[in-house]
Amino acid sequence: MSITPDLLSKFELLAGLPDAALETLAQIAQLEEHPDGALIIEEDQHAEKLFLLLSGKIALEKKVQLGQTGTPRQATIDVIGPWGAFGWSSIVPPYTYTASGICLEDSKLLSLNGSALNAIMQEMPEVGYELIRRVATLIRDRLTSASSMLTYFLSIVSHELKRPIAAVENYVQVLLGGFAGEISAKQSRLLERSALRLGDLRALISDILDFARMQPEQIRADFELLNPQEIGAEAIEDVRLAATQKQIRLKAIGPATMKPLVGAHRRLRQVLSNLLANAVKFSPEGSTVVLSVHDDEHTLSIDVTDEGIGIPLEDQAHIFEDFYRASNAETVGGAGLGLSIAKKIVDAHEGEINVQSPYEPGKPGTRFTVRVPRNLPLPASFISSDQGTVDPVSDPDGE
Ligand code: ADP
Repeated sequence: MSITPDLLSKFELLAGLPDAALETLAQIAQLEEHPDGALIIEEDQHAEKLFLLLSGKIALEKKVQLGQTGTPRQATIDVIGPWGAFGWSSIVPPYTYTASGICLEDSKLLSLNGSALNAIMQEMPEVGYELIRRVATLIRDRLTSASSMLTYFLSIVSHELKRPIAAVENYVQVLLGGFAGEISAKQSRLLERSALRLGDLRALISDILDFARMQPEQIRADFELLNPQEIGAEAIEDVRLAATQKQIRLKAIGPATMKPLVGAHRRLRQVLSNLLANAVKFSPEGSTVVLSVHDDEHTLSIDVTDEGIGIPLEDQAHIFEDFYRASNAETVGGAGLGLSIAKKIVDAHEGEINVQSPYEPGKPGTRFTVRVPRNLPLPASFISSDQGTVDPVSDPDGE
């Protein structure tokens, strides 16, 4: 088989390059044939060649190891079909392959020696620029598909973890309610603690799940006309057990009636539950947590105020970042995701979320304020009462 400029121009990476360039590239291209299962390039090894696939299929794989003691496994990050390219590391320092390439079928490839290719790119800078631009596109596409794969994977894993936890929580509630026989005061205390720990674990998994799919457009697709009072009442119920355990008083202050608001009910409830759960978590026994709502024509404004440990000034600018935890929170459990999720939700509502700590001179504690505009547009799907597509991993129970 002869390697012609015409053949090379069929590859996406090379299509449209000047004839002179294709002519020169054809001179350095070598035909290679590899059987099913052959290892063509190896992760972390010196990258010598760039490959163009004529026929067959190549899996790109990376070593994945969970923790230092986990068993290393190969994870497929992409599959290359005919006219695709791989092995670009051979033209970019430090010339080390970032993945392994394994034949999934008998495959025919063209290989281009990396240093010869680099020399051509230097001699013909316009061709070099165009090739690097295309490689960058290739990498970007691969990265995009890898992150959506990760999101999907996280959603599935989190969802599968939540199910057994919910079942165990139910059993604990059955025991606590005395429905499986009488229990002693000590057993009841232990079961209550188990219920709280399970609740924390479920909240953590929910956070990871939400973190994975918290896109503004997904939040906005859930916009509807909602009753702010209902959300406040539900959020208070969400933290009631945890508050009772610490004898923390939950107080709600607000107008007797409120006008409906456009927003995502489940998501706004989540913001308030998160703020209230933090307030309870970071407060001493016997203190008070207050949820207060101010309503005007254009804005709904909600404060969550506690008498807890407060947030050091130097940490306040960072607490809405993913995984950030303040320096005084080390002994209290948490992943540092709740506030970053809350901020994403509030941002999708074109609102703002702020913190003041201390909120009054000389007083301990923290105040979070959420402000959301009242009159956001409803999604088209709501107006036409079309329910939209069904998210395959969304919880039927609204969790
Ligand atoms: P988590 O509570 O899981 O650690 P969050 O994202 O909800 O994560 O909060 C980030 C950090 O902000 C917490 O680790 C804590 O340091 C601080 N924080 C949040 N709310 C409060 C609060 N009410 N009082 C004191 N510190 C808080």
